[in-house]
This record gives sequence, C-alpha cells and structure tokens, in this order.
Amino acid sequence: MAHVAVLGTGIMGAPMARNLVRAGHDVRVWNRTVGKAESLAEDGVTVARTAQEAVAGVEFVITMLTDAQAVEQVMVEDGALDALPDGALWIQSSTIGVAATERLARLTEERRVVFVDAPVLGTKKPAEDGELVMLASGPEDAREACEPVFAAIARHSVWLGEAGLSTRLKLVVNSWILCTVENIAETFVLARTLGLDPRRFLEAIAGGGMDMPYAHLKGEAILNEDFPASFPLRLARKDVALILEAASELDLPLVRATLGQFDRALQLGHGDEDMSAVYYASAAPTAPVTGA
Ligand code: NAP
Repeated sequence: MAHVAVLGTGIMGAPMARNLVRAGHDVRVWNRTVGKAESLAEDGVTVARTAQEAVAGVEFVITMLTDAQAVEQVMVEDGALDALPDGALWIQSSTIGVAATERLARLTEERRVVFVDAPVLGTKKPAEDGELVMLASGPEDAREACEPVFAAIARHSVWLGEAGLSTRLKLVVNSWILCTVENIAETFVLARTLGLDPRRFLEAIAGGGMDMPYAHLKGEAILNEDFPASFPLRLARKDVALILEAASELDLPLVRATLGQFDRALQLGHGDEDMSAVYYASAAPTAPVTGA
C-alpha cells in the first residue's frame, strides 16, 4: 500500500483516485473547486482542503490538471512541490507539452523529488475501468517504484527513458488521433453534402483494411449529435497547439488545418463537448440527410 495524492479530480483524476483506493492505496485528493471532489469521500478517499495538505507525507503525487499553467500554479506557485517529502515521486500525467515538461523536470533536479513524466492514453471510460496506458519516462530507478500505482490505473505502461520522451510520444499519438477525428467529421459532412447517409460510409469500410473502431465510435456521436465530453474539445485544441509548438520548424499543414477547425468549433461554443463536436466546424448542426 502506498500513500498517494491526486491533484485534480476532473474527468480523469476522479476515476484514477477511485481506482487507486480500490487497489488498496491510501489516497488523498485535492481539487481547486472542492465541491467537485467531495463525492470521492464515499469511496474512501480523503478530500484535502489545500494541495499542500494533500501531499504532506505522501510517497507519490499524481497531477491531473488542465494544462501547464495549472500544474505550475498548483505545484510551484502554491507550494505543493515544496510540501512534498524528500524522496517522493511526482507522476505528472496532465498533458502539458514538451517545453513545460522539461522546465518542471529541471526544477525538480534542485529538490529531492523524483519527476516522472507520465501522460496517459485513454479517456473517461478507460480511466473509470483502470484501463489507461501510461507513457512513462524518468530515472530508471523510478520505474519499479511506480509499478503498484500504475497497476491500479492502467492496463499497461510503456517506459521510454529520460523525462520528456513520453510527452513527445503523447503528442505524436494525439496528432494522429486529433487529425483523425477532424477527418471523420469532415468525411461525414462530405457524405451528407453529396446526398449520402454517413452510415453508408461506415458500412462501406466495415471490416476491411480502411476500417477503424474510432470511425464508428466518434461517428455514432456525430450521427446522434450527442457529444458528452470524454475528451473535451477545449483540451483537444490545447493539445493541437502543443503539437505545433513541439514541431517547431517542421511544417505540419494537416495539424495546422485541424487547429483552425478546433478554433472554429470553440468559437461556435462547443468547447465543453467531446472533441468530436469539431464536426460543427464543417457542418451546420441541422444539415439534413437527403438519402441513402
Ligand atoms: P478536466 O475534467 O477539465 O479537469 C481539469 C482539472 O484541472 C480540474 O480539477 C480543474 O479544477 C483543474 N484546474 C484547472 N485549472 C486550474 C488551476 N489554475 N489551478 C488549479 N486547478 C486547476 O480535465 P481532464 O479531462 O480530467 O484532463 C486533465 C488532463 O489530462 C489534461 O491535461 C488533459 O489534456 C489530459 N488528458 C485528458 C484525457 C481525457 O480524455 N479527458 C485523456 C488523456 C489526457 P476545477 O474543477 O476547479 O476546474
């Protein structure tokens, strides 16, 4: 059993904390909006009033916050990093990009805290089922120490080497998936514009080399125009910007176009819906299906 603090109990942090407690760990959580964390007490999680209180005496802290600014605010400016005991491991699982990850890794070198760059693959449902994939990197001797924590929240983990590598892989995977979501949305709009029900497209690719489960999963949300947030569009937009920032001089026209589409969907007011609501950037919400 380990003493673990989880900072941030949003879509991902709350189920991660529940699964840690179910696995027998002693878990403390903190959330900026305390009310959103309180229901976790019913699961046996201790709800702290401040981040500093949450991390006092723990062996691990997991940060699962919106972005780099939130992580730096909580850990650095509000003092959670200073409140961590010597030798504690900081599992940084928020998606914050390469520059911020390297900044935080450097910062921890000056302290007796071990920084593990550990973004996750998987959304709300895999988080609830303890089926995330951990992309982890950091000092080799942290690898074994993290295993009991990872085992409670993840199906498996991929260890990559020095901190920063897993954030890079996370951005590569998200580039693939976020451009794919935009492609699915645009394909559906094209089908409708050509007078086809997008279901015919799904039937045409079903079971063949061109098929992918994601087309059906996100396609279903688009067909029903029902976008409960697994991965909110505003966070997807953040990640597209992080990909472009990390790519630096490399031109990524597809990613740039995808950023434009996420921006348009945000302007249309879909930021808190699932990323597949990027559909609205290409289509009028009530575009009719004119035939099969
Ligand atoms: P979320 O539901 O929006 O939760 C965000 C959390 O960050 C909340 O606890 C929020 O507190 C907190 N927060 C935001 N700004 C803050 C600040 N300035 N100071 C303190 N706390 C702050 O997001 P999520 O979906 O759990 O995602 C968390 C991270 O994981 C993000 O980096 C995201 O990109 C990444 N991720 C998400 C998914 C996914 O499918 N959802 C998958 C993989 C990775 P309040 O409740 O007070 O607002």
